[in-house]
Amino acid sequence: MTKPTEIRSHVLANLDHYLAELDKQLTAQGGTVVYLRGADEVADYLELLTREREIPVPGGAESLRRHAERLEPGVEAYLRGESPADPESLELADGALRISAAAFLIADAGAICLTGEHPGGTGPKIQVVVAGIEKVLPRMRDLAVFLPLLPSDTTRFLTGPRRAGELDGPEELCLILVDGGRSELLASPERRDLLRCVRCGACLPGRVGGGGVDCPVGIDTEGLPLRLREEAPLEVGGWKFRLWGYVMRKPRLYEFAGQMLRAFWREEWGLPAPPAKSFRQAWREGKK
Ligand code: SF4
Repeated sequence: MTKPTEIRSHVLANLDHYLAELDKQLTAQGGTVVYLRGADEVADYLELLTREREIPVPGGAESLRRHAERLEPGVEAYLRGESPADPESLELADGALRISAAAFLIADAGAICLTGEHPGGTGPKIQVVVAGIEKVLPRMRDLAVFLPLLPSDTTRFLTGPRRAGELDGPEELCLILVDGGRSELLASPERRDLLRCVRCGACLPGRVGGGGVDCPVGIDTEGLPLRLREEAPLEVGGWKFRLWGYVMRKPRLYEFAGQMLRAFWREEWGLPAPPAKSFRQAWREGKK
């Protein structure tokens, strides 16, 4: 067993312990820790916070909901290639509130590790960080093992609100720990290994590693994104979801629908434009 696999397996076997340690440390350092069940609850929390603090949100509650979904995609959605490992932070009202996703959480230091482009400076006033419960690592020194695995070379740490005399850091820090189906994954002997994933992207086509299969934490990645996509449960939220679910389960029909979507895409729909290449195209190219 490699060192990263060993550490991640140990974390999963002792998740309650490390989450409690993280909570205790971060709270003692002046931060707030909130436990929520999924992206919907994250969006509700953010909506309430912005309303209470009178922070204007361009695009309103719907934009907060979309951002919450981007920040909290869950391990399986990430491995299906549906979300970036390091989603962009949302900054509101000129630094009044920043909402980011964590790369790792460090239990012994009560610290949050952010990667990617996170502007420095004195702000924001309120920093909210969203993280899946599996992101915790036991010790600060474990970062030396895991940070080099990530594609990003920018790292920032938060250990609580700014203290007297400090020049940088938020005035308030809130960590939202999200379950988002992870407890069920943890209880499943066949699937719990997925929670070892540190989102390095090496197994995802079109990302760093271009679809290679050498997973640093010992997950069987052979065809993993495709496998998870085929196993995705059928949504039952009205005919549009049922139709989408049906199409998702028919690989050829799905590819054809994607081609049609790209060919007839209209900007005025106000939705994110589809990528130039389909997932399957990128996958095939990554395998060559
Ligand atoms: S290679 Fe392993 S750790 Fe990296 S994204 Fe894939 S499953 Fe996750």
